[in-house]
Amino acid sequence: MKVNKTTTRLADGRELIHYDSRDDVRRDAVDKRPLEPAVAANEIRHDPLRDEWVAIASHRQGRTYHPPADECPLCPSRDGRLSEIPAADYDVVVFENRFPSLAGPPGPSEAADPAGLFTHAPGTGRCEVVCFTDDHDASFADLTPQQAALVLHAWTDRTAELSRRPGVQQVFCFENRGREIGVTLSHSHGQIYAYPFTTPRTDSMLRSLAAHRDRTGGNLFDDLLAAERADGSRVVLETAHWTAFVPYAAHWPYEVHLHPRRRVPDLPALDDAARAEFPHVYLELLRRFDRLFGPGEPPTPYISAWHQAPVDHPLRGEFALHLELFTIRRTSGKLKYLAGSESGMDVFINDVPPESAALRLREVAAPMDTTGAAGSADGGVSGAGAVAGGDVSGAGAVAGGGVTGAVADAPADGGVVGVGAPAGAVDGARTADANRAHSGTPHHGPR
Ligand SMILES: [Zn+2]
Repeated sequence: MKVNKTTTRLADGRELIHYDSRDDVRRDAVDKRPLEPAVAANEIRHDPLRDEWVAIASHRQGRTYHPPADECPLCPSRDGRLSEIPAADYDVVVFENRFPSLAGPPGPSEAADPAGLFTHAPGTGRCEVVCFTDDHDASFADLTPQQAALVLHAWTDRTAELSRRPGVQQVFCFENRGREIGVTLSHSHGQIYAYPFTTPRTDSMLRSLAAHRDRTGGNLFDDLLAAERADGSRVVLETAHWTAFVPYAAHWPYEVHLHPRRRVPDLPALDDAARAEFPHVYLELLRRFDRLFGPGEPPTPYISAWHQAPVDHPLRGEFALHLELFTIRRTSGKLKYLAGSESGMDVFINDVPPESAALRLREVAAPMDTTGAAGSADGGVSGAGAVAGGDVSGAGAVAGGGVTGAVADAPADGGVVGVGAPAGAVDGARTADANRAHSGTPHHGPR
């Protein structure tokens, strides 16, 4: 896709980058706020017992907390109100967080004691905010496929650029959605962390990857994806280039792992076909999450986390880029808290069997165009073919509005459900409307 990128500076020196899908916009608005230069005193400290780094960032205590909508720092600057974004409108904007957990140049780690038990290092790296849309009230699931494609472009570009910065070892793009998750700003946005080390979660996956290769000669990610597809009972949706499934040992009540069919280490390595199809697949998953608990429920809180290979690691080429999407809500009005077993011992207790979660996530699929389902050779992925061609806008031609229930019936024949026509077919706004309109139908009701 054609994207116009403009890099500017805020009043305190932080970088702000516009990603525009049009090339007739000039992004030269000046930040008129009287801001002091941003000062970040970050430190990472090593926990020798867990062999993990902890970021100590005391200045974050003063950060903006649940401001009223008319003081939203992520809305564009207009009507005399100055925000973090000097422009009067924007498509996608990325800027350095004013209250970063990680920032500044790299430096050596040092021990504060002779035994080396108190090891610390500069909290180098970068924390960025990604604003998905200038519409204060729209969530990611409300975006059009074109807007979602622009966000994917921004994630990809930031990953490539941050990976080249000195001291950066891993780039993490994520979205926290909902107050229940601890989001302090309601305007739809995500974040990007560039860490100076390989994160514990990734490190543990890399160890499993190495052990599996030693034992079987195979790639653990490839083998897992193949096994989930063969089993089918936890597959949530499948298209020409992506597979989404609830993992066999899911930790969270509703947890979906989304993998490109062709394994790549990170977002910049994603091929054009997978890239073109992603917005439709991802928007469909997010909309299903919002329908999980039935009509009249508040938006589902979720965490959406891109897992990418570390920048420099011997097993980088074997790692599989994937997205993990999960909610902490386990049933209407009830949250899953990380209490004693989870927080104290890292042992998760999940009240929702992964197969039931997958079934529910198939039940709440977007209403499907019957012509799309019937025309498909393998259970409803036909629409995805059109999308895979990369013609995002042209997909609207398939728009049908759909027949409720067509998709809910499909899993019976092995659990592979095509996102096909519904997600790819309709432009975002109309899909969102259709979803709302259909949310009152019986099979969308609470469990
Ligand atoms: Zn806003």
